[in-house]
Amino acid sequence: MSVRVLPDFLVNQIAAGEVVENPASVVKELVENALDAGADQIVIDIVDGGRTSISVIDNGRGMNREDLAKSILRHATSKLPDDDLTNITYMGFRGEALPSIASVSDMTIDTYCAGEPNGWQLNAGTGEIKPCNWDSGTRIKVENLFARTPARLKFLRGDRAETMSVLEVVKRLAMARQDVGFVLNNKWFFPKGQSLLERMTSVMGDDIVGRMLEVNSNSESSELSLTGFVSEPTLRRASSVDQFLFVNGRPVKDKVVVGALRAAYMDVMHAREFPLCALFLRLNPRNVDVNVSPAKTEVHFLEPSHVRAFIIKNLRERLAETMNDSVQNKSENINTPNQMNLSTSDNFIKHATSGGYGLYVNAPQRNDKSFFANRGYSDFTVNKVKTGEIAPNTVDNVFDDMPLGRAIGQIGDKYILATNQDNLIIIDQHAAHERITYERVRTHSIKVQPLLTPIVVNMRAEDVVAVMTVADELKASGLVIDSFGDDAIAIFEKPADWDLNWAELLHSIADEVRENGHSVQLNEKLHLKLANWACHHSVRAGQKLDMNQMNALLRDIENTTRGGQCNHGRPVYKIIPISDLDIIFERS
Ligand code: ADP
Ligand code: MG
Repeated sequence: MSVRVLPDFLVNQIAAGEVVENPASVVKELVENALDAGADQIVIDIVDGGRTSISVIDNGRGMNREDLAKSILRHATSKLPDDDLTNITYMGFRGEALPSIASVSDMTIDTYCAGEPNGWQLNAGTGEIKPCNWDSGTRIKVENLFARTPARLKFLRGDRAETMSVLEVVKRLAMARQDVGFVLNNKWFFPKGQSLLERMTSVMGDDIVGRMLEVNSNSESSELSLTGFVSEPTLRRASSVDQFLFVNGRPVKDKVVVGALRAAYMDVMHAREFPLCALFLRLNPRNVDVNVSPAKTEVHFLEPSHVRAFIIKNLRERLAETMNDSVQNKSENINTPNQMNLSTSDNFIKHATSGGYGLYVNAPQRNDKSFFANRGYSDFTVNKVKTGEIAPNTVDNVFDDMPLGRAIGQIGDKYILATNQDNLIIIDQHAAHERITYERVRTHSIKVQPLLTPIVVNMRAEDVVAVMTVADELKASGLVIDSFGDDAIAIFEKPADWDLNWAELLHSIADEVRENGHSVQLNEKLHLKLANWACHHSVRAGQKLDMNQMNALLRDIENTTRGGQCNHGRPVYKIIPISDLDIIFERS
């Protein structure tokens, strides 16, 4: 075997493997080029999800004949005039996109540049350039993508899914540049000159109105700045689809920034929920390396921990400003005769549950008869008291015989403390409620009920497209839907007896599908989706409960199959026998 230098067309096809993954990545490269050319109007049209044709038209400065000829050469770029890779101010700089795209498609460029006698058209396949009547800006047309590389073609998803990915790319760039107008397929419009908030509303949906918090922070040395908007904690999505992050104007999905955002919301949002944001981080270009991945969504910060701390601190401060009300409410505690001295018990619990003592037993399963028999509960269901029938004054002793006993208070707005004759019981209120909601939904999912009048859920066009890509899986789970015009979904059949907020469920499915591009998540069965759904609709950690609510929750969990574990496998409650307390206090 002798060593040979690969011919250009092969080199380009190999590079295309990195840069050109799907129609969305083609659109990204072409739109970035249009932005780099100073365009403020960009019109994108794709046919068959982009596989038949992609066209990007801009009103930028165009190319003269000489530049046009060079533009499709490998590593030909106008954007690194001074050979300085540490000072990248354009979106592009590798000079790879056009030759790569040309190697896996039929590409033509029409362009006009001031000073030229006429426009020029380049056929990238033959390299031929001829005069044309194009008279402003540039149009790049990419046809038959991957037709010559069938292996790549096979990996393209359905037209709908590819269209969605293209839309996500356009949205990301549209969020980066409100000063530029974007149109996709004459259907999605992001008009030029919107304010950031207006652009966010076009991109994320009307539900954000009045619920975004403005961020505007500078580091002391002014080396770093963070501007934009983040959502109030009550506004959240089921995926990160509406998180728009920019480093020096470049859209990124960088883990330092994403991690900092998550950390900032840690106390106010569940880990499976995602705040919305449009955040622009700016720093000296010399302190960040954007030349990391060809798709350029990851960056390297010179001082990642510094950046992270800066973002967390400023977002937390901003969120804290809005939380003052609820913090004040926290100090008024529920006061009942049953309440024990929480400050002492709080300390105690920390010790008892810190893990070192091995004192508490695992939560018993409801059907673990021997557990209850040993403790003198021959048939605890006899004493069952129905939710909602608890009169405040009778709470005291009625529940003392129940497996989870009677509530005596709440600690950290997170755990319920309860006691029965033999035990101290600690219940994770969120996990408990999640379990109950999930079981309720799950055990009712068998019968399908056709609806006389379909339920119509209005959604953004892209959400409709997203949900429709998983219509078959939903059908398998008893939910029969179809698109209803461009921006609504109609539900024709649903699992009988289910009383869900369908609009909300469909929206969160849309979020997830759009994030994952396809149905990975949903392949894990609607049940998993339901588990998450149940979780989102459960009593949260951080929610104050009164005695009745606490006791009702205890009774519900006793009556739930596998009530001892939440849907994600965490324990719902721990039972600490009083005999173990005796050991702690050296009474035995
Ligand atoms: P890069 O963007 O990294 O420079 P590309 O292969 O994407 O590399 O583009 C090569 C060159 O072609 C660019 O540097 C630019 O000079 C020119 N070019 C590409 N698209 C356009 C456009 N829409 N308008 C004007 N010039 C363009
Ligand atoms: Mg480029």
